[in-house]
Amino acid sequence: MKNMAKLGSLWLLLLISGGAAFRDAQLPICNEDAFQPNYIPKLDALLRWRKFPVRVYFVRDAHHTPERQQLAIEGFQQWTRLTDNKVRFEVVDDEQEAQIWVRFDPSSKAGRTDCTYYPERREIIRAEMIIGVKEDVPLDIQSVSVHEFGHALGIVGHSDDSKDAMYPRYTVGKLASLSQRDLNAVKTAYCELFDEERAIAALERTRGLPSSRDEPRKVQIVCGKPRSSR
Ligand SMILES: [Zn+2]
Repeated sequence: MKNMAKLGSLWLLLLISGGAAFRDAQLPICNEDAFQPNYIPKLDALLRWRKFPVRVYFVRDAHHTPERQQLAIEGFQQWTRLTDNKVRFEVVDDEQEAQIWVRFDPSSKAGRTDCTYYPERREIIRAEMIIGVKEDVPLDIQSVSVHEFGHALGIVGHSDDSKDAMYPRYTVGKLASLSQRDLNAVKTAYCELFDEERAIAALERTRGLPSSRDEPRKVQIVCGKPRSSR
């Protein structure tokens, strides 16, 4: 009987410590100079999701069509391809499971993303994306999607170079494609996925549990109107 009680308390201990380890899981803060060139000094913030895949939900309102959804997915996939599937998403049909909400807006050709995040540990917990689909030009819908997904991944702010997909304005009729600087921004947000050595070097700078002051905050990122290609 005594041994059984001991065994029981051992399990209890394992359960408690296991739970604590999960709650205390630390997220590294990466050195902003680790992946060059980048535009991180120009950003308002660089946030991150705790883990991948992030779950994307397309809101089934009057503006949702399978064609628009497919074009948006193709835009999002630029990030997946360029990061060798390290940054990835899955589309879910159940809104309850969503982390990123996507809506289409037929009155605009631009986009907007609202991010909800914990400022102290710079962790994003929810993103709501609006993709302008005015005129329904496939290339333009993809360009807006590439750009807005960058915001949803944690890039809060814009690049200062028109060659980057995270420049505030895309060019109509020309597919936005990710640059080395766009890639380096997302690599910096998730450095431990890309370069273990650099992540280990940065591990002393971690962001763990939020303090009681670390309340979720919402930021709205409004993107510019497209530029004419002429
Ligand atoms: Zn933007």
